[in-house]
Amino acid sequence: MSDKKQKKPGFFYCVGLMLGKSVSKTLKNDISERVIQIYENKPKGAEVIKLLKAEKAKEKNRKNKNKWRNRRWGTLLFINLLFVVSYFFDMSVLEGALTASRFMGFHMADLNSALQITLASKMILINLVIGFVTVLIMWIIFGGRTFCSWVCPYHLIAEFAEFIHLKLAQKGIVSDHAFNRKVRTVFYIVFLLLAFLTGYTVFEVISPTGILSRALIYGPTFVLLWVVFLLMIEILYSRRMWCRYVCPIGLTYGFVGIFSIFRVNYNINDCLHEGDCRKVCLVPHVLEWTIKNRSFNENQELGPDCTRCGACVDICPTNSLTFKFKGISREKYPCNDPEPKNNKQKIKVDKK
Ligand code: SF4
Ligand code: SF4
Repeated sequence: MSDKKQKKPGFFYCVGLMLGKSVSKTLKNDISERVIQIYENKPKGAEVIKLLKAEKAKEKNRKNKNKWRNRRWGTLLFINLLFVVSYFFDMSVLEGALTASRFMGFHMADLNSALQITLASKMILINLVIGFVTVLIMWIIFGGRTFCSWVCPYHLIAEFAEFIHLKLAQKGIVSDHAFNRKVRTVFYIVFLLLAFLTGYTVFEVISPTGILSRALIYGPTFVLLWVVFLLMIEILYSRRMWCRYVCPIGLTYGFVGIFSIFRVNYNINDCLHEGDCRKVCLVPHVLEWTIKNRSFNENQELGPDCTRCGACVDICPTNSLTFKFKGISREKYPCNDPEPKNNKQKIKVDKK
């Protein structure tokens, strides 16, 4: 059987996706014949329900169900507390705040802040360039939006707000109001223009990331009320509103994520398409490949908007989602395997 070449989402496709374009319509007709065959051999109807039940039963007894979440929370708290400790004990370990800092003497600059400062000052500041390049290289290695879920303090408290929102939604007290993802692109342009036209880094004044980082290190101020206001909106009106539809930091790191070697990989072979991953994800559009007949590759790297939080990796009942370093990690069922096997058989063998 002749097979179309395995396609990879290109640069412009990834950028379009982050700026608000939809996944499914673009690539639906590009599914390779090998992948079509895998989809055709998948278990159907009652068989899927049976397999899912078996997986969920196993899940209940699994130790360390939230492995990646726990690692992430530990890392996030460690980094932010390192700022606090360095300040209180006057140590040259991690000085400054998340927007601009020095790690063991090396300049570090938040990429979005550096952009805003450059546009506002209309000057190229050498320390800023050093800090920008250092941080850029770091996040190309560790995954662009990894900054969001592994470092940003707002992400952590927004997760608790999301937990409350979901509990209230379950009881029918609140409901989620989703917006068009393109809104974030509009905000991005507006904040860049504001910096350029006013000469002030306007976004930094309202950024909960900077506000929380400074409050932790230098003590709370009344500006924290703004963060409380944002959290209330997220609890009562729109789930994860700030990160999904406003924050330009996420989009800046998303651009870096296009080039990153650290990814979440989706493998279609064992996936039961029940959609648990999309329910826990901050950016569910990157998981649209997991809907049946949407992925056009057997192994599909998730888009750069993925924050590498690991929530989908933790929850996936079939281990179809895994972290990988491109070129280093070994792929489960690599694309150059011989003809796809019968999936029903494969699933039965794997679940023993
Ligand atoms: S989108 Fe912004 S506020 Fe949300 S986690 Fe990322 S940097 Fe933090
Ligand atoms: S795709 Fe997975 S790792 Fe990426 S943001 Fe969503 S839940 Fe987190």
